[in-house]
Amino acid sequence: MTKQEILKKYFGYDTFRTGQEVMIDAILQGRDALGIMPTGAGKSLCYQVPALMLPGITLVISPLISLMMDQVKALNQVGVHAAYINSSLTEGQIHKALQYAAQGQYKIIYVAPERLETESFLNFAGHAEISMVTVDEAHCISQWGQDFRPSYLNIVRFIEKLPARPIVSAFTATATKQVQEDIVCVLGLMDPEILVTGFNRENLYFEVRREKNKNACLLEYVSAHRSDSGIIYCSTRKNVETVCEFLEDMGIDATRYHAGLGADERKRNQEDFIYDVKPVMVATSAFGMGIDKSNVRYVIHYNMPQNLENYYQEAGRAGRDGEPSECILYYSPQDVATCQYMIENSQERQELEPQVREILMERDHERLKRMTFYCFTNDCLRDYILRYFGEYGNNYCGNCSNCLTRFESVDVTEIAKKLVNCVGSSRQRYGINVILDTVHGANTAKIRGYRMDQNPYYGCLAKVNMNKLRQVLNYLLLENYLTVTNDEYTLVRLTDRTKDLLADGAHLVMKMAKETEKGAGALGASQGADSGNAGGRKRKGAAWLEDEERKLFEALRALRMEIAREEKVPPYIVFSDKTLIQMASLHPEDKEGMLKVSGIGEYKFEKYGEKFLSCIRSVRKQGR
Ligand code: ADP
Ligand code: ZN
Repeated sequence: MTKQEILKKYFGYDTFRTGQEVMIDAILQGRDALGIMPTGAGKSLCYQVPALMLPGITLVISPLISLMMDQVKALNQVGVHAAYINSSLTEGQIHKALQYAAQGQYKIIYVAPERLETESFLNFAGHAEISMVTVDEAHCISQWGQDFRPSYLNIVRFIEKLPARPIVSAFTATATKQVQEDIVCVLGLMDPEILVTGFNRENLYFEVRREKNKNACLLEYVSAHRSDSGIIYCSTRKNVETVCEFLEDMGIDATRYHAGLGADERKRNQEDFIYDVKPVMVATSAFGMGIDKSNVRYVIHYNMPQNLENYYQEAGRAGRDGEPSECILYYSPQDVATCQYMIENSQERQELEPQVREILMERDHERLKRMTFYCFTNDCLRDYILRYFGEYGNNYCGNCSNCLTRFESVDVTEIAKKLVNCVGSSRQRYGINVILDTVHGANTAKIRGYRMDQNPYYGCLAKVNMNKLRQVLNYLLLENYLTVTNDEYTLVRLTDRTKDLLADGAHLVMKMAKETEKGAGALGASQGADSGNAGGRKRKGAAWLEDEERKLFEALRALRMEIAREEKVPPYIVFSDKTLIQMASLHPEDKEGMLKVSGIGEYKFEKYGEKFLSCIRSVRKQGR
């Protein structure tokens, strides 16, 4: 089978996502590979598809038992023989699993790093044909990362002990340069194909609210999204308790999670959430690691977290299935004070040298500042986040509360032409600031020194504010009407596209922040916005199904729940929300139609196809 056929037959998808193919092809050519892709990008398929095509077994090293179980369940669901070996099994079960594995029963085996060095496992591995070792959550190998796990260092020794070196592939969502280099180096990847896909998650909508009455706001939101699954993060255990109680009192099916609860209760509550018994989870940041639930439709931060790293990681638990999902942050000044207190009184740091503690504290304060700015910026929120992580966005995403309420289309043709002409008339010899100062008519020694005060465009845009000029120039660079040289001087140059802009009748329109009156802009704008349905909002997903389809969707969802209960798996393992939404809008009538739905392969059709077909039939019959 080709990789395309495997994608369709087992996973039920028609096309690979950006990057997946690059990784798969490299692996199939026998190369090592490192994939750095954000949550929800589809890392698993990058090694699962080649695992099914390579001759022997693929071992997947994974740090968390819950992740392994989830993955193996999902694979078994689509007809792939897979198993996990970790401390949740008894010695007897492990023995049995290794026996089956040695007989070649499994194509994919998930294993905890601690297991690699045990005698029984080494004995098995020494005799089996292992085609690939895949390291999931590979950042755990780096001592620079936040989640360093010493047991990950076993991996290298283990690989060295194998009779033949397998292909080694590694995946993570952590993108700092240092961690990336560590992975390549410590794991000993050989000439790996390295893929880094952007941090942007298009399906996530971002919003900041500065509401006085957080509870009222929360209740309104949760009530309006009753059938959706969501997480509400609070900064303290006490807040978790009060918010959860409040929601329960208001008749919402909510549950809670924080480190102060007993292990049993934590486990029970977590399962209630994962199995969609309780759609709303109120939790501290202790909740979420290793939660693979793909249909989390919203993540609300009831309190502002300490930094954007934490915020983006937690908010990113929404929408792993790629469907539109919302990330909303409730800000209050008290949150900043709480964070400050936490930074200054961190228990973990008590043992450190005073100077080290000082440095870390300073760094944390700086991060907190940038988190706070996020709550007040008038810029595109997505852009703000991406810039924080060192990427460039394009100023306007159309899918955050700022873009939807604070931006307007502005015709900038005249400004753009003058900027371009200024660059041309100074023979493309100057950098961005000189060009801006020239058109703005700055009277500085530098401008006079370059004789730009004699340039025909000197002062021609003196009345436009500098900030706006800079935005237009950035836009010209982004749209490739201008470019900058790649050397230390970064001179502004014309491009092939420049002439299009100068042509008669050319128009350039861009999105710009509304020029708000003093004060009103900072606090007023976002509060009026009706979250969810603000004008022009890119939304699809269940909320946009027509009435008829919506009814069908609910019926399909009930059927999915029934099956999930019977089989004791989380509902999203049966079918994702995305699959059900498509099923509801396409309402296929036969097998052929069913296989066209994204997420339904041969095996899943055999298992569930008829049940869902008859559900569709009966709902549509009622409708007529
Ligand atoms: P990651 O591990 O990168 O966070 P996953 O591997 O869990 O992401 O994939 C996220 C979701 O995207 C899963 O529901 C998965 O089935 C789905 N997915 C992966 N690849 C594709 C594809 N090519 N087409 C459609 N959906 C996909
Ligand atoms: Zn935006």
